[in-house]
Amino acid sequence: MQLIDPILAFHTELQQIRRDIHAHPELCFEEHRTSELVANKLQEWGIPVVRGLAGTGIVGVIKNGNSAKAIGLRADMDALPMQEINSFAHTSQHDGKMHACGHDGHTAMLLGAAHYLSQHKNFDGTVYVIFQPAEEGGGGAKRMIDEGLFDLCPMDAVYGMHNWPGAAVGSFGVRVGPMMASSNEFEVVVSGKGSHAAQPHKSVDPIMVAVQIAQSWQTIISRNTSPLESAVLSITQIHSGSATNVIPDQATLIGTVRGFTNEVIDLLERRMQAIAEHTAAAFDANVQFSFKRNYPPLVNHADETAFAAQVMQSIVGIEHVDVQVEPTMGAEDFAFMLQNKPGCYVFIGNGEGEHRDFGHGLGPCNLHNPSYDFNDDLLPIGATYWVRLAEAYLSL
Ligand SMILES: [Zn+2]
Ligand SMILES: [Zn+2]
Repeated sequence: MQLIDPILAFHTELQQIRRDIHAHPELCFEEHRTSELVANKLQEWGIPVVRGLAGTGIVGVIKNGNSAKAIGLRADMDALPMQEINSFAHTSQHDGKMHACGHDGHTAMLLGAAHYLSQHKNFDGTVYVIFQPAEEGGGGAKRMIDEGLFDLCPMDAVYGMHNWPGAAVGSFGVRVGPMMASSNEFEVVVSGKGSHAAQPHKSVDPIMVAVQIAQSWQTIISRNTSPLESAVLSITQIHSGSATNVIPDQATLIGTVRGFTNEVIDLLERRMQAIAEHTAAAFDANVQFSFKRNYPPLVNHADETAFAAQVMQSIVGIEHVDVQVEPTMGAEDFAFMLQNKPGCYVFIGNGEGEHRDFGHGLGPCNLHNPSYDFNDDLLPIGATYWVRLAEAYLSL
């Protein structure tokens, strides 16, 4: 691996920063301590800071030379509302909060790059290092954009990165086009007519209607969606009733819909609503249908992806960069940034979890698992990628 020596020499400090953030996880839009830590480090290294975008968002501005060209590098800072079961020294100090997605590591890798770039200005133009809040469902990226990120910090392209458990340390994955799914949620309330369970003929049973809707929805992906498209429709909650001898008034269906194009999401929403409304009508029930669009699909731009792949290959070798990585039905709010600017999002291998084997607790090292931990061996690899990407983009 062609890693940058001064970044390797900075590994211990980056690891301390990463573990400090891990021990103090903060949830969506509450990243006050983390944001302060990031801003203080950037300022300590002489980097001007833009504060306050999306509340706790921070952008460091690293300039050199006269070029108007600019690149954005983005990390996320938030943790998840879940209990950590690891027993190592840097385990979460806050009950019910945990860095189980590695955003502690993303923040530390970008800080490592910012530190190097501020000291060795081998580029002509501006590097914006973007630390965003609330990736885990809060849409912090969108809020930063809505509050003027790209007006205050005009950039030509923007890049993102996520650690990927199961992929080897020293490997990267990327692909042109859709790489992560659009995530959406629905809630359908069926209103019938409650009754004594011994007198079903006096009721309009909302449970029967909800079950019919649930069954019929399963035909949307098999019969309405093109077999060449991918989509997910998962009903994750059904709520109704409170007693064995009561037919309830209402039943509620809740769940998630995923897909890689807006067209397929439009189709799913339209068919789900039609089936819900017409099924309810067939049984003399009523239905309230709501469908909420959360994150759009994450779509990598072709030129920027080819450029990022070259940079990754120059660091870890061509054989360790999968340029056709399998897309995932997980979602990511960096998708909003890619709707506004050309750019590319990549996966960086986090290993199989061996880094936590000794005394680090049990369980798999998957994202959002209570025994997950970011692999500190990635810190110099990710930081080197950010630096080489910025230097190549803004080459002298
Ligand atoms: Zn996550
Ligand atoms: Zn994440």
